[in-house]
Amino acid sequence: MNNIEIANDLIDFIYSSPSAFHATENSAQNLNTLAYSELKMEDKWTIEKGGKYYVRYNSSAIFSFEIGTEAPSETGFKIIAAHTDSPTIKIKPNPEIYHNKNDIKLNIETYGGGIWMTWLDRPLSIAGRVFVKSQNVLEPKEILVNIKKPVALIPNMAIHLNRTINEGLKINPQKHLLPLFAQYSTVSGENELLKLVASELGIDYTEILDFELNFYETEKGSLVGANNEFISTGRLDNIGMMHAGLLSLNGINDKKSTKILAFFDNEEIGSETKQGAHSPILRIILERINTALNYSQEDYYRAIARSFMISADMAHAIHPNSPEMHDPVNQPVLNGGPVIKINANQKYTTDAQSGSVFEGLCQKAEVAVQRFVNRSDIKGGGTLGSIATVQIPIRAVDIGNPMLAMHSIREFAGVNDHANLIKVFKQFWEE
Ligand code: ZN
Repeated sequence: MNNIEIANDLIDFIYSSPSAFHATENSAQNLNTLAYSELKMEDKWTIEKGGKYYVRYNSSAIFSFEIGTEAPSETGFKIIAAHTDSPTIKIKPNPEIYHNKNDIKLNIETYGGGIWMTWLDRPLSIAGRVFVKSQNVLEPKEILVNIKKPVALIPNMAIHLNRTINEGLKINPQKHLLPLFAQYSTVSGENELLKLVASELGIDYTEILDFELNFYETEKGSLVGANNEFISTGRLDNIGMMHAGLLSLNGINDKKSTKILAFFDNEEIGSETKQGAHSPILRIILERINTALNYSQEDYYRAIARSFMISADMAHAIHPNSPEMHDPVNQPVLNGGPVIKINANQKYTTDAQSGSVFEGLCQKAEVAVQRFVNRSDIKGGGTLGSIATVQIPIRAVDIGNPMLAMHSIREFAGVNDHANLIKVFKQFWEE
């Protein structure tokens, strides 16, 4: 695939991944086509050198591993980490709010730090998962759902009623972000959301025990620019990095080292969940790989000491209209190559050693590399690397592709950056 084709493949992947559950499911499908087979956390693992496996956790995190022909104690675990979740608007239980005997709104909560004003006036759809009864009360049946058509919209207020709106709208989520969902006269009057979801799934709404559903922009992403230089779509942060990791697994020659993709959930709310980077989940999986291969605890600790993790999460490019918000020297640009993220207070896990490793990989792959540090008077964000390495003390670097409009309903990145980062990831697997 050329760079444009790779970017379009990313747009397709994001379009079919409107929730963390769908991003996980689509990763699994992708791994299936690469001859990976699924293991279950609750089963006994039988794994072989040269084998390819993956395991899901909570249906919203997924970890793949290709077992090397050499022991991890000799080659280390090679890990590329990313996250499956993005800021979104989630639907509360009993969501219908009947307004004025005319409109039905849905009650919502925000998830993560979205730029919520960008969600206004966009046709929205709904995706996520529901649970229905099964034979075993402790194991209800999970079903993913994606409505795929516009079913709701959060309308702006007319400028005539709010003359200062262009000076900034202070958004109160309980007041300003309730999507309009239906008209009272067209429905029977109760459980309208569950009825819509159930009809999509071909079940009766009374079968649904519980749900986790979020809104997403119905319109698909697209290429933008006079020469298709840019990608405009939601959830580039961080499905872009998941997609790059998955594509990098294709056509690797190295068979010696154990190669791991670790896609956690809940990065946008601090990673402190059982399926987030702050949980012991990745450590448990690495230990189980080591045990299933009949290596000792000593071998495991040696493997950890040799391991390396690339924590991949999107990065900030310099904003063309607000360059003063950035560091005066280190100013990553779109299509200028992947970005190493550095922070003196270790909000990013990068140190000079792990930064050198990534710099070396880029040089060898002949891909330009950039560096990001915050303006010293701006706090900035954090990501997975520092959190995950509290659980497993391995060498790690925080990197990502440069982008604009992070956490907008539509984010913006460079076509060539995406293809180039895949090259760097491939180089990592080959070392
Ligand atoms: Zn992110």
